Amino acid sequence: MSRGHFIGNARHPGGSGKKIDCIDPATAMTFDSIAAGSAEDIDAAVCAARRAFTAWKATTGAERARILRAISGAITANRDRLAEIETRDNGKPLPEAFIDVDTIAQIFAMYADMAEELDARGEEAVGPSGGAMKTTVAYRPVGVIGMITPWNFPLEQFTWKVAPALAAGCCAVVKPSEFTSLSSLELAALMAGAGLPPGVINVVTGTGAEAGAALVRHPGVDKMSFTGSTATGKQIMRIAAEDLKRVSLELGGKNPLIVFDDVDLDAAVQWVGFGAFVNQGQVCTASSRLLVQESIAGRFLDRLTELAEAIHIGPGSAEGVKMGPLISQAHHDKVMSYVQAGMEAGARLVTGGSRPPGLNAGYFVAPTIFADVTPDMTIWTEEIFGPVLSVMTFRTEEEAVRLANDTPYGLAASVLSKDRARAERVGDALEAGIIWQNCSNMVVIEAPWGGIKKSGMGRELGRWGLESYLEPRQKTRWLGDGSLDWYALPDRLAAE
Ligand code: NAD
Repeated sequence: MSRGHFIGNARHPGGSGKKIDCIDPATAMTFDSIAAGSAEDIDAAVCAARRAFTAWKATTGAERARILRAISGAITANRDRLAEIETRDNGKPLPEAFIDVDTIAQIFAMYADMAEELDARGEEAVGPSGGAMKTTVAYRPVGVIGMITPWNFPLEQFTWKVAPALAAGCCAVVKPSEFTSLSSLELAALMAGAGLPPGVINVVTGTGAEAGAALVRHPGVDKMSFTGSTATGKQIMRIAAEDLKRVSLELGGKNPLIVFDDVDLDAAVQWVGFGAFVNQGQVCTASSRLLVQESIAGRFLDRLTELAEAIHIGPGSAEGVKMGPLISQAHHDKVMSYVQAGMEAGARLVTGGSRPPGLNAGYFVAPTIFADVTPDMTIWTEEIFGPVLSVMTFRTEEEAVRLANDTPYGLAASVLSKDRARAERVGDALEAGIIWQNCSNMVVIEAPWGGIKKSGMGRELGRWGLESYLEPRQKTRWLGDGSLDWYALPDRLAAE
């Protein structure tokens, strides 16, 4: 029997009886299974969320904060178990899973503080402040939120959406990726144990085509919050448009990293390696396009190749491993098809491009670097979402910025230079929602996260994450006398 869904704080077996295998990406062996959710299961979850919403939206921020803090504590108390589940299901190195778990505990605590601040914010006065009229703005929870998450950071993606939504007074139905649903089910159960009322958070597992699409279509969902590929984001927006559901989209990227010739070589090589290969390159903000100034390109590439070849690859649970397997056979094959396309297009394979020696099971791909890349190659233009770095050289600052911005995506961009003024100038010229100067792929939970262009719309994290689950509502009260001259009203209010 599969794990089942989590609806109304209880395990729900799922109506169809169908299941999806959970496969350990390090061994390609099945170790568990989840329910393949249907439209009926989604309906049960949305109904539970709608029932819960009436009471949850009436709670004070302080009451929600108390529960969010208890959840944060429960995450820390179950740190080992959550990290182990994540590594088994997703493949990432265990130390990285621990970082994810610690971060989500911090995020719940941060949104607990923000829930309390909502009480203090109360109703803000705006507009004419004379005697005749008084207008205030109050912030109301958007309602029941449908959330669809990807497989690369399952606990983080769940939390980036759920914690601010709950702080705002919303309820949610989460459809995690069918490749990595176990940690979301586990966390939802912990949340119930920490005192979250039934129905406030529900998890329905299953495929995107069936459970995901049913969630997007459900009329009981007020807003969709989606993180995943740009192609799926477009489909979701199209369906949501039918009943004008609100949407937030965190989509893909093909993120440039510019290295100028004045950098500290050691540090720069480390940042590039981290940006390109952390989480096996399966990061929406992965620095997958490297632009290195021509005068240092040879030396830089040699050092970067040394770093890539020294990365310890293996099962995420093994001691000392810095890079695990990719998520699935299909994804492995997709990444390898890009490697093939790069070679066929004439790019020079500097290192990697194959299975690392000695790792015969699982979905491993060695860190891969292509040089002599040109802007028309698919390895330069398309998101690969694996450990594949494409390198081009540039001569001038203008050329670097032009090449960096020549992409439909706009999620993140990095610039490395000792010249602070140049780093500022180039950072300002780069078209992306997230700019890193002399670093890459740093997550600051207090700052807005999200992209421009085809990398999505809306922002997560920080106070921007909270605002995306709130609707401002104005209340205008007429306090003046009963004698009304419509056409004299503007003058009268202006005079007050
Ligand atoms: P994906 O789009 O294939 O799937 C994401 C989620 O959408 C999964 O839960 C899937 O089941 C669901 N889904 C698929 N088709 C659907 C449909 N028709 N209707 C409803 N739901 C559907 O993406 P993925 O392969 O899981 O994740 C990788 C992508 O996510 C990459 O493009 C990456 O850049 C992006 N991503 C973006 C961010 C960000 O913050 N911008 C973060 C992580 C991942």
